[in-house]
Amino acid sequence: MTDLALKTGTAFDAERVRLDFPILNQEVNGHPLVYLDNAATTQKPKAVIQAIVDYYQQDNSNVHRGAHALAERATEKFEAARNKVARFINSPDACQVIWTRGTTESINLVAASWGRANLQKGDRILVSAMEHHSNIVPWQMVAAEVGATVEAIPVDGTGTIDMQAFEQMLDERVRMVACGHVSNAFGSINPVADIVKLAHDHGALCLVDGAQAISHWAVDVQALDCDFYVFSAHKLFGPTGLGVLYGRRELLESMSPYQGGGEMIESVSFDGTTYNQLPYKFEAGTPDIASVIGMGAAVDYVEALDREGAAAHEDALLAYAQKRALDTPGMKLVGTARNKVAVMSFLLEGAHPHDVGMLLDQQGVAVRTGNHCAQPIMDQFGIPGTIRASFSIYNTFADVDRLFEALAKVRQFL
Ligand code: PLP
Repeated sequence: MTDLALKTGTAFDAERVRLDFPILNQEVNGHPLVYLDNAATTQKPKAVIQAIVDYYQQDNSNVHRGAHALAERATEKFEAARNKVARFINSPDACQVIWTRGTTESINLVAASWGRANLQKGDRILVSAMEHHSNIVPWQMVAAEVGATVEAIPVDGTGTIDMQAFEQMLDERVRMVACGHVSNAFGSINPVADIVKLAHDHGALCLVDGAQAISHWAVDVQALDCDFYVFSAHKLFGPTGLGVLYGRRELLESMSPYQGGGEMIESVSFDGTTYNQLPYKFEAGTPDIASVIGMGAAVDYVEALDREGAAAHEDALLAYAQKRALDTPGMKLVGTARNKVAVMSFLLEGAHPHDVGMLLDQQGVAVRTGNHCAQPIMDQFGIPGTIRASFSIYNTFADVDRLFEALAKVRQFL
């Protein structure tokens, strides 16, 4: 295929989508911004920003406990957002959608609450070798407390999970398999439905870290049959500081609260306190109401998109970028799994990723460099990190061209 053929892409109108994201219309270091750091966080459409402004300008109030109109409106919008997220991921019930501060807190909640009550000395927790630190460290912390172990499921040189090795690792001591749906370091899509099935066949639970999957296609937690599914609002065009924990109802009901305080209780007395029902049992204190309402707007925004068209557009951008990478001397792709989202991790011969990132920034191109909070897999590959360009619905072929023009200048410079 010629570059031109690759560039024709799909009918999805990314130029039109761009207009919804005001932040993209700016210059950085004297150049029009090219934002290719979407795996770190996605930008926010006007509808999300406006929903947050409207809440603070019109409805600001604490939720659930006020006997006045503002509190009622805020509560209605807050719970409407929960219902939207439940529908969005096909949760059987909105009470199985718990608001947290992010993917990180969702995993910590499960590791602390489920882990402390259910793990014992000698138990095993399996995580893939390319997990984000958020899906390693909370398990290590609870494992250290109870005497369990955290073991890495092997990942090959392309960034693909070795499913045979995984199957061989499973035995009756494995109690939890925690795995990313998509690798943030390379974009590899992991076969999580198969992973869940194998875990269940061996009596283990499975938590899926959906932080990098949620913006790319329609996630169905019931079809995946996972026990927990976690993600962050800010990777789905929503606000920062907000996350979701979906859990199987009977598991959530059996788990102890993660934090104590207001809202999570039914009744408090010095003779004994009883806890609220789901989801409030896990939502101690005043929640991030504005962000929840912003998240509701983000879900509305995504649902109004042609999602299949958007995914095809992102795939076309990746194919085009990877083709250009192959034609670029000294450029080496890292993580070349067959099944990938639009994340291109790479190295430039003779250049430290950090220097490349800085020189790209000087030309208005925003990428991420470093180990991407996935140090174990970088250590396995024997590299300090990579340069990561990650594409989203508002990126265009012109953005890819700008990246490669900027890289050509970086190569001249270094
Ligand atoms: N898991 C994955 C796969 C991620 O990519 C990230 C963020 O980059 C996280 C977990 C942590 O998300 P947060 O920092 O929003 O809690």
